[in-house]
Amino acid sequence: MAGVSLDTKLTGVVGGRSSDPLRKSLDIQTVGDLLTHYPRALQDIGELSDFLQLEDGDHVTVIAKVLTVVNKPYKVKATGRQAQRTELSVTDGQRELSLAFFQQPWRVKHLRPGTIAMFSGNVSVFKGRRQLAHPICETLGFGADLDEFAEHEVPRWVPIYPATAAVSSEKIRGCITQTLLVLEDVPDPLPDDVRRSHRLLTYDEALRAIHQPADPREFERAKDRLRFDEAFVLQTVLAQRRQQTLALSAAPRPRREGGLVTRFDAQLPFVLTAGQRDVGSQLSADLARAHPMHRLLQGEVGSGKTVVALRAMLQVIDAGGQAALLAPTEVLAAQHHRSITTMLGPMAEAGMLGGDAEATRVELITGSMSTSRRKESLLNALSGVAGITVGTHALLEETVQFAELGLVVVDEQHRFGVEQRAALTGKVKDMSPHVLVMTATPIPRTVAMTVFGDLDVSTLRELPAGRAPIQTSVVPAAERPAWLDRAWQRVREEVGKGQQAYVVCPRIGDQGLEPTAADEAAYDEEPGASRRPPLAVVDVAAEVSSRHLAEVRVDVLHGRLPADGKDQVMRRFTAGDIDVLVATTVIEVGVDVPNASVMVVLDADRFGVSQLHQLRGRVGRGSVAGLCLLVTEADPESPSRQRLDGVAATSDGFELARLDLESRREGDVLGVSQSGRRSSLKLLSVLRDEEVIAAARTAADEVVSRDPELDQHPALAAVVASLLASEQASYLEKS
Ligand code: ADP
Ligand code: MG
Repeated sequence: MAGVSLDTKLTGVVGGRSSDPLRKSLDIQTVGDLLTHYPRALQDIGELSDFLQLEDGDHVTVIAKVLTVVNKPYKVKATGRQAQRTELSVTDGQRELSLAFFQQPWRVKHLRPGTIAMFSGNVSVFKGRRQLAHPICETLGFGADLDEFAEHEVPRWVPIYPATAAVSSEKIRGCITQTLLVLEDVPDPLPDDVRRSHRLLTYDEALRAIHQPADPREFERAKDRLRFDEAFVLQTVLAQRRQQTLALSAAPRPRREGGLVTRFDAQLPFVLTAGQRDVGSQLSADLARAHPMHRLLQGEVGSGKTVVALRAMLQVIDAGGQAALLAPTEVLAAQHHRSITTMLGPMAEAGMLGGDAEATRVELITGSMSTSRRKESLLNALSGVAGITVGTHALLEETVQFAELGLVVVDEQHRFGVEQRAALTGKVKDMSPHVLVMTATPIPRTVAMTVFGDLDVSTLRELPAGRAPIQTSVVPAAERPAWLDRAWQRVREEVGKGQQAYVVCPRIGDQGLEPTAADEAAYDEEPGASRRPPLAVVDVAAEVSSRHLAEVRVDVLHGRLPADGKDQVMRRFTAGDIDVLVATTVIEVGVDVPNASVMVVLDADRFGVSQLHQLRGRVGRGSVAGLCLLVTEADPESPSRQRLDGVAATSDGFELARLDLESRREGDVLGVSQSGRRSSLKLLSVLRDEEVIAAARTAADEVVSRDPELDQHPALAAVVASLLASEQASYLEKS
């Protein structure tokens, strides 16, 4: 067969009978797809054993002929489910051995009597007979004399592939062997000097060695090379993106003395922390440049990111531009609008009685606003009257236009993707606006390098002085019901002292309505999670006011309330007219009510690590110490309970981020949906492979700065293009 390359359709190479199931169940269509379906492990087949030597517990490999094969139904004891066992009897010519496969009835067709095959597995004794249960097997021939195979070359190391019900590991191995025989030399996407300086195999060598390694060392070397590629291609994309940003121009917005920033600073009721000042001058310098700023500001919950961002916005307004602040939820957008308006005071009252001569205006645009209010906001953004426009996704719509958009701030960035940032930044003709992305979810360095490789990073590590620490305790409601009573009592005490409380539930509840996606997610099974449905806001609120806290003013906040309803509840809670707010995670990000001092999270095991960390950041924001009680019925030994203990034990967001990422799958780290599509990262772990990523980044930067369009590196350019073209590129966009 001539000209088989990675792009060749598999059908023509292995035939439709083999390629169809591969396509249907693993989405493998080309030779490249097949060869990048890497083994998950290497199995040691060992030496060929003699039937005489088979001892209970040994791992053995034998070559034998099938005598009989039959499927037998049986009942699985634990579940009562009907299942199939395939029983074989095989011989070495003299003695016999039993084999069994479970739930693989198709084996009867592949292992008809007379088939000669190699079987490898553990010897056990079943009903007095020696057997191999679910061995790996490789068919060698049919009907012939066993002796012909006595000298058969058995590969010592056999790769085991991720398989499905329709396509077994052996089947995949067979197709790969067939394909490698006809595959032409594969061009190397890695520039030669990079490959040499990192002492890596060539691509062709690695691709063959990972499937047919002579030994585990060669297998590892192949993986090293292919893992480096994954990091390198990704970093090449990001390096190109950084180069493109450098080529863009932005209107410089240098600091102007005596403007809004100066006046804002003069009236601040507190002193900025050293970190706030440092990051502030970083931003100020970025904004003064003729290139767009692309900066990620990460800082602990409550570290005061909003003030930092507001000062940047004011600098832009002082320099004749406008700013847009994008928030992930309506609650948060409304709160930002409210608090920014308050913080600015007369400075935000342009055109109003008592407003400053040099004042500006702060507008709000959300999806649920009335048409007339929205019209006014739109007009003020378009005319340039609005210095700051705060909004949700609604800001991204085409109808929203600005006179002179100079800065886009994205709050709590993990809910927005790059393409959404692009929708906003695209609103500026010819020039690009400066962009500041804020997140309270700390990101390990490697993830930042991979996912946010096109952003510069600033970090706020300290909390404002005088901030009382948050104390977190786990309340095991099942083992210690008295502790739960005590938790409610604490809420009562705090309210008695004039403080306020949050009670958080995983679900909204409210019969008669379809569960929301969040409700569904809350049901997601996890070992150790409680079996009953998760607690719901509606039910808990009723219970709290009738039983636990009768004399206390209780209200609810969740995603199903109409927008103005949500806003009203938040206003009343902020004003102190509600003592206890029973809510879903709508309060997770950014909600800022300094008088709230205690939070009870019910069914806390239903929440993720960073979610809990975000949630508890809602209390202890004033001068009063915060208390967070994580109520759970999860088993003390369960992973979810241990996760809660971890959250209670530390308040270091960076440590928690690591804990969180470790408990999640790689795909989630990158934001790839679990749609079953192949990911382009198969061997690379953004958590473990920090060194590889850093090395690949340096190498990619060098290559791209010498050859931005990759004209000298056609093979690399092709791989980059196909990564960008594939749906997989979406993880570069989402974050
Ligand atoms: P986050 O980083 O979580 O967004 P915020 O910006 O909402 O934090 O700030 C949390 C609270 O701390 C706000 O009430 C804010 O006014 C206050 N704050 C911000 N900076 C300081 C400071 N330097 N000193 C005292 N309080 C501050
Ligand atoms: Mg915030």
